[in-house]
Amino acid sequence: MRAWLQTGFGGPEVRRLTEVAAPAPADGEVTVRMLAVALNRLDVLQRREPVIPGMTVPHVAGMDLIGEVVAAGAADDLLGAVVLIDPVVSCGRCELCLAETPTYCEAFQTIGSTRDGGMAELVTVPARNCTVVDVATDDSDSLARLAAVPVAGATAWRGLLGAGGLRAGETVVIPGAGSGLGAAGIQIALAHAADVIALVSGPAKKTRAEQSGARLVIDRTATDDWVAEVLGATDGRGADLVWDHVGGRFLGQALRATRAGGRVVLSGTTDGLDTELHLPDLYQRGRSIIGHGSYSRADMAAAVAAFGTGHFEVVIDSVWGFEQLPEAEARLESDAFFGKIVVLGPSFSTSTAPERKDAA
Ligand SMILES: [Zn+2]
Repeated sequence: MRAWLQTGFGGPEVRRLTEVAAPAPADGEVTVRMLAVALNRLDVLQRREPVIPGMTVPHVAGMDLIGEVVAAGAADDLLGAVVLIDPVVSCGRCELCLAETPTYCEAFQTIGSTRDGGMAELVTVPARNCTVVDVATDDSDSLARLAAVPVAGATAWRGLLGAGGLRAGETVVIPGAGSGLGAAGIQIALAHAADVIALVSGPAKKTRAEQSGARLVIDRTATDDWVAEVLGATDGRGADLVWDHVGGRFLGQALRATRAGGRVVLSGTTDGLDTELHLPDLYQRGRSIIGHGSYSRADMAAAVAAFGTGHFEVVIDSVWGFEQLPEAEARLESDAFFGKIVVLGPSFSTSTAPERKDAA
C-alpha cells in the first residue's frame, strides 16, 4: 500500500509517498481504508522536530481520520462499516482509563503521533477507538466534514466545557479563530449561550470570523494591546474565561484579560512551550490557570453527537486529493487558511476531489 512516510525531521521533503507493507490487525484491532484525513498543526510541528516524547521515524502522520473497516483481528462486526477514529489509544482497563482520563494511562499512544496515522491507504487501529457513522463511502463532502470533528471537537469540548466550566451568559475569549480548533471552539461556546470575543491575525481572517456569530472580533495584527480591547468590551471587568490553546507569551496576556476570579484554560502550546508570568496578575486578582488535562471518551462522544445534531458545524477551509497532501500541508504552513484542511483517500482521484475553497 502507499503511505505518506516521514523518514526524518525537517521540511516537506522528509514526507514522501512510499510503497510500504500493508498493516495487519492484531487481536482487538481493525484495518481501515482511509477515506478522509483532516490535518492538524501537530502534523507539521512533528515533521519539523520531535516534539512529542515517544514519536519516532519512520512515521505516518494523521490524527483525524475516517475510513471503512476492511479487515478485523477479532471483532468482525465492524467489517464494512464507516468509522470515525478517536486518536487516543490506551489500555482501557487501568484505574486512569476507568476514571475517564485515558491520556494519563501508562499505555497511552496517539494515532498519527506516537503510532501510525491516517496519511496512508490503510491504517490499523483498536476496534474500541471506532465510532460507526452513517455516511456513504463516496460522499466526499460529508466524509471531509466528519474527519475534521474528533481532535478539534473533543479538544474544544474538553477545554471550554470540561476544564473551563463555561456557563451560559459568560464571556469567553477564543484566540486563533481562523484555526480549525478556534472555529470549533466558537461554535461550541455559542451553542452553550456564551458571549464570544474572538481573536484573529490579519484582516482576511477578521472578515471571515465576523460571520461566525462572535460578538466582537479583534485583529491582533491591528492592535498592540488586545487585552485593553477585551477590557473595553466588558466595561473594564474582563472576560470570565480565556481559552488559551496557543501557550507561549499569550498565557500572561490571557490572564490579564480575565476578570477578578476569572479563569484561563491552557489547552495547547503551538506558540511556545515556555512562558513568563507577572505573578501579581495571578494571586492578587484570584485568577486561576487550569490545565486542559486528559480528554475523555465522553468529550469525544459529545462532540460527535453535537455535530450530528447540528449544534456544532465544522468550518472547512479546503479539500485535497490524496496525492496533493504536500500542497495541503503547505497551505497549513502558510497560515493563509480559515478552518480545517482535509485530504481525501486515494479512492477519490485528484480530478474528482472537490475544488478547494479560498480562505479570502
Ligand atoms: Zn489505561
